[in-house]
Amino acid sequence: MNLVVIERVGTYRRAAVEAGIDRLLRPLGGMEAFVRPGERVLLKPNMLSAKTPDAAVTTHPEVVRAVIRLVQEAGGIVLVGDSPGVGSSMRVAEKTGLMQVIRETGAEFADFSEAVEVSGEGVFRRFALARPYLEADKIINLPKLKTHEMMTMTCAVKNLFGSVVGTAKAGWHLKAGADRELFARMLVELYLVRKPDLNIVDAIVAMEGDGPGNGDPCDVGLLLAGQSAVAVDVIAAEIAGIPKKLLPMERVAAQLGISGAERSAIKTVGLPLHEARVADFRLPHISDVQFGLPLFLKNRLRHYLTSRPAVNTERCRLCGICKDACPPHAIGVRDGKLTFDYHACIRCFCCRELCPEGALDVVEGALLKMIKSFK
Ligand code: SF4
Ligand code: SF4
Repeated sequence: MNLVVIERVGTYRRAAVEAGIDRLLRPLGGMEAFVRPGERVLLKPNMLSAKTPDAAVTTHPEVVRAVIRLVQEAGGIVLVGDSPGVGSSMRVAEKTGLMQVIRETGAEFADFSEAVEVSGEGVFRRFALARPYLEADKIINLPKLKTHEMMTMTCAVKNLFGSVVGTAKAGWHLKAGADRELFARMLVELYLVRKPDLNIVDAIVAMEGDGPGNGDPCDVGLLLAGQSAVAVDVIAAEIAGIPKKLLPMERVAAQLGISGAERSAIKTVGLPLHEARVADFRLPHISDVQFGLPLFLKNRLRHYLTSRPAVNTERCRLCGICKDACPPHAIGVRDGKLTFDYHACIRCFCCRELCPEGALDVVEGALLKMIKSFK
């Protein structure tokens, strides 16, 4: 049975977060159950982009601080690292408040710039992951609960995609991103390469709407913890009221028989689930139609069936971040305006995720709009 602990913590005040994480880990045996003296323990927060903590894009620094303290008290040597979607990890760490916490606690900043190749088992045979991620004795995954325009939700399993170094993420979008199920399969297989030892979710303020980069902060007031990232995600989705049919990673994990994917194999403790549930958690408005159509037809009708990015010219500063990040190089600039090659576009929405100005809107395919109007 997979145990997932839920605790109510309604503020990021330091004392409240510390006490909340203490309570959270008690049913799991405390930090001592995971960390032995002298072990090098990597904390892997969500460091998607250089935003301040109030934007709810990244794991809050007070959550990271409280976990650092517990690992140090257990005798562990703490490293903190992630590879952001765009820009230098150092800059992201500074802006998100994580670097200040690292300095104040005497933890080490882990540089995720060097990749090491490892074998996977399944569809994807090789992964190149950040060296500190593979070499740490223990990994504590510290995701933020957020909506995700491609996967519907990002939490514990999806957070591990940050172990892929920098621009190599775009390569994965290119290889697998045209098909949500395949991309979900890649994420689940990546999780299996190196499972975190412990997962602690920052859902004190989560993100709803068009996450993971441009959604809206949402007071959820919870911390979650568990050994199985998959089980933690199942419970997080239940709390947010996200139906399973919208969660490709959960479906893939269940198909592969991964421990924690089946709800019947998860026990929750702490705050009762019915008290933890969030009413009206807003999901991303991007959608496509998974008819179970044959792939060749799906590919042909994709332009009409799926949502696609479009620029809001009033907001766009032509900084070029989306253009540089686009995996199939489907974004160009003509006459001082962004252009999109929608035949090349794989609908990964990395551009929207990374645009610092929120200047990319979503346009629904004509057929999709028509189908929705009949619903
Ligand atoms: S859409 Fe956003 S990321 Fe792209 S060029 Fe404009 S401001 Fe930059
Ligand atoms: S244009 Fe945006 S959605 Fe399309 S492939 Fe490029 S990054 Fe992905």
